[in-house]
Amino acid sequence: MTLRIGTGVDVHPLVAGRAMYLAGLSWPNELAGCEGHSDGDVAAHAMCDALLSAAGLGDLGSVFGTGRPEWSGASGVTLLQEVARLLVVDGWTVVNVSVQVIANSPKIGSRREEAQQVLSQAIGGAPVSVAGTTTDGLGLTGRGEGVAAIANALIERTTD
Ligand code: MG
Repeated sequence: MTLRIGTGVDVHPLVAGRAMYLAGLSWPNELAGCEGHSDGDVAAHAMCDALLSAAGLGDLGSVFGTGRPEWSGASGVTLLQEVARLLVVDGWTVVNVSVQVIANSPKIGSRREEAQQVLSQAIGGAPVSVAGTTTDGLGLTGRGEGVAAIANALIERTTD
């Protein structure tokens, strides 16, 4: 059995008045949202990079960069679906993904089950665990300037 792990990190600036999309969910009560060409979903983006890294398929920039303009503006969940498809094509099955959001707000734990369900479905049903933390007021997330996420993915070779 061939197992591979991968890590992904993402950070986006917070902008007042922008809609917040995080961990595959819309957060309509948030006063600020993540800036970015897409919906700015740092959790989904970190998961994409973790999965691509585990499979040795590059990263978000190389897969969805300027060479593939049809993907600009795609939601984090849509990118995850495509990454999962690329892994299957390359002979991989996702075993599980863990993602941690680093932010003052929203409190990801309040909608953990919902987020896990949406993200799991996006990658073809493998378990996704979603966690949240803060930096106790320190750094860019602590000052409310941005939101960060870190993800780890475990995948298994399904074809030789
Ligand atoms: Mg991003």
